Amino acid sequence: MEDLRAKVAEGMRKLYERGLVSSLGGNLSIRSEDRTRIFITPSGSPKWTLQAEDIVEVDMEGNVLNGIKRPSSELPSHLLIYSKRPDVCSVVHAHPVHAVALANSGLLKPPLNVTPEEVLYLNRLSLIDFALPGKGTAEALSGVIPISDVIVIKNHGAFSFGKNVEEAIARIEILEEASKMIYLQLSIEHEPKRIPKEIAEEIKKIYKKD
Ligand SMILES: [Zn+2]
Repeated sequence: MEDLRAKVAEGMRKLYERGLVSSLGGNLSIRSEDRTRIFITPSGSPKWTLQAEDIVEVDMEGNVLNGIKRPSSELPSHLLIYSKRPDVCSVVHAHPVHAVALANSGLLKPPLNVTPEEVLYLNRLSLIDFALPGKGTAEALSGVIPISDVIVIKNHGAFSFGKNVEEAIARIEILEEASKMIYLQLSIEHEPKRIPKEIAEEIKKIYKKD
């Protein structure tokens, strides 16, 4: 399982390098192929220092199986997402600042329809109100997990999930890219230019053929 630990550490460092989390914010997990365990980032460690040996292995009830550190305090949300979504094998929690700022101001309105990637990968985007980190956030996420691939939490951050870590990270990047675009457009104009609904449907059809 060294490979999955290394992947978790590398994914988290990447989110830090991209400015999608601060040194002590965010967390990332990958579910094992046999679906009995998850590998998750530890609580408190600076993200840019993370290595494979820092990653914590827990069972699907959250019991630590291996690891020298404590698992992330957002572990309850990761476990809940895996239990409700058999299709998901990686969960990312990041702090994309433009997305959260727009959500706080009531300006992140799904469907965003601002870029082709966003039409495809963020078509199941949900927003929820702030809840206390840990169990409180897991409870608040619960209702929208089955209908979402990305969930923005006001005054906090976002969860994204996918069939693998690459997809989960891409969703966070696309969310922040689209949000930055809307933010910049709003600072110049009053209403962001959106791809018309019928064109957004066409984009989905084009990529479905591949
Ligand atoms: Zn957070």
